Amino acid sequence: MAATSTCHATTTVPTRKFDSGELRGEGAYVVAPPSVHPRGGEYSWITSPKEVQLAPLDADWVVPTLNSQSEIKSTTPSSNTTWGKDSVYQDYLEHLERLDGEEEYVQLVCKLLGITTARKFLCVLHAERRPSAALWRNPKGIYSYKDFHGRGQSSYTLTEVFASTTTGIEMAMAGPTLAVWKLRLMAEVGVLTPVPVSLPALPPSASKDAHLVRRAIQDIYGLRWAREHGTPAPFTRRFMTPWTRLPEGRWESGFGEVLKANVVRKVGECPSGFPVATSLYLPGYEED
Ligand SMILES: [Zn+2]
Repeated sequence: MAATSTCHATTTVPTRKFDSGELRGEGAYVVAPPSVHPRGGEYSWITSPKEVQLAPLDADWVVPTLNSQSEIKSTTPSSNTTWGKDSVYQDYLEHLERLDGEEEYVQLVCKLLGITTARKFLCVLHAERRPSAALWRNPKGIYSYKDFHGRGQSSYTLTEVFASTTTGIEMAMAGPTLAVWKLRLMAEVGVLTPVPVSLPALPPSASKDAHLVRRAIQDIYGLRWAREHGTPAPFTRRFMTPWTRLPEGRWESGFGEVLKANVVRKVGECPSGFPVATSLYLPGYEED
């Protein structure tokens, strides 16, 4: 985009298609030069934006979009972001859902998971002899994984399939958990670049598990901060044990070492829906 100034909507703006183009909502995925295609080669313009003038923006074209509340769910003005409920990630998730309808992305995910959109295949979640699983496209164009075993869910998001095959645990996910796993999948197939995050080092005496936990935390900030730089993150046992594939006890002691070494520090908490609130953390370094 050639624009030198930006404005920020106080509600989520959904992506909308028009005859003359597309308005991409915040968090929507855009590929533009000089992005590199995951299979190599750089994207290039057919007509560079430098060669053409900006098209006039017709207010009528935009305003109905901004006001189309019917397409906006659970939005929160960015000024009262609640990390706890992780509304930012829920909004983001809705934008991200559309990604599961984008052919190029879906093909990359298929390649990673060893599945195909073309025909039935052997279920990657359960052992079977005859192919019974398939990808199904809903009327909105979103792909999901259909499982006809009746052993678990009958339908999974591509992200759930990825998380389940990564952890070896069948994972049904929603909300921020699903969002962060999706960011991990996006990074895995090369459509999202995690931001580099530096964390304080562990002492030389630190255990292997503490190093594993520190690395996982660094990865998660890298994914989350690609979207919202510098925001605190929760590292709950419930989320982190499958993510790190550490048993609960080893996660607890590894995370204990990480806290003791001030790799991350608690900066607040948010309601969790459980009696104990969820703690939020930032890197132990002071923000500059
Ligand atoms: Zn299955």
